[in-house]
Amino acid sequence: MKVAAKLELIRQQINQACQIANRKPDEITLIAVTKYVSIERAYEALEAGIKDLGENRDEGLLNKWEALGDKPVWHYIGTLQSRKVKNIIDIVEYIHSLDRLSLAKEINKRASRKIKCLVQVNVSAEESKHGLAPEDVIPFIEALHPFENISVEGLMTMAPFIDDEQVLRDCFRKLNKLRGQVQALNLDFAPCTELSMGMSNDFSIAIEEGATMIRVGTALVGEEE
Ligand SMILES: *Cc1c(COP(=O)(O)O)cnc(C)c1O
Repeated sequence: MKVAAKLELIRQQINQACQIANRKPDEITLIAVTKYVSIERAYEALEAGIKDLGENRDEGLLNKWEALGDKPVWHYIGTLQSRKVKNIIDIVEYIHSLDRLSLAKEINKRASRKIKCLVQVNVSAEESKHGLAPEDVIPFIEALHPFENISVEGLMTMAPFIDDEQVLRDCFRKLNKLRGQVQALNLDFAPCTELSMGMSNDFSIAIEEGATMIRVGTALVGEEE
């Protein structure tokens, strides 16, 4: 299926979720996660009207960026090793996976402008997942104060890979609540307005629970033929 056709379906689902939640579709940034697909397919997504692309490895990001340049807004959504920061820092607008001070230090050192970061939270406490435990998020963000090139734009999470709607909803709700707690600190380096949550299988629920950025791969650009 063409990306344009898939995009149409996803926009309908976004609109539906927005209606349920009494929100506006333009509050939600749709990030096309192109990690599984070719440059041609990523280009097709841009042609269809997508403005934001997400990659989870430095090679993948560089590879796509060499072909597509600065036309899309680039989001780095995967685990980021400190030694890879220098490869991606001049390309990305957002890093969704800030989860430790050593990484913040490296981002701050390599950046020549403010980098919009989202703090990754392991809400579901799965051992396999990266991210801070919810109770560590506020002290972590407070400790980012000295890093002048880092702006904490929001929080990010990956929900568990299950179908239980209530579990997914609870996970997203917890992240939303945590965002409120960060906002209440009124830190000028941490406006924390964004909630990056929701993927192919759960983005409607995430939107109902307040997502401002959804990261959609398979449902939007997957299955190339
Ligand atoms: C791969 C990936 C996605 C997209 O997953 P789909 O299920 O294909 O939509 C979203 N977020 C992160 C962090 C990913 O690694």
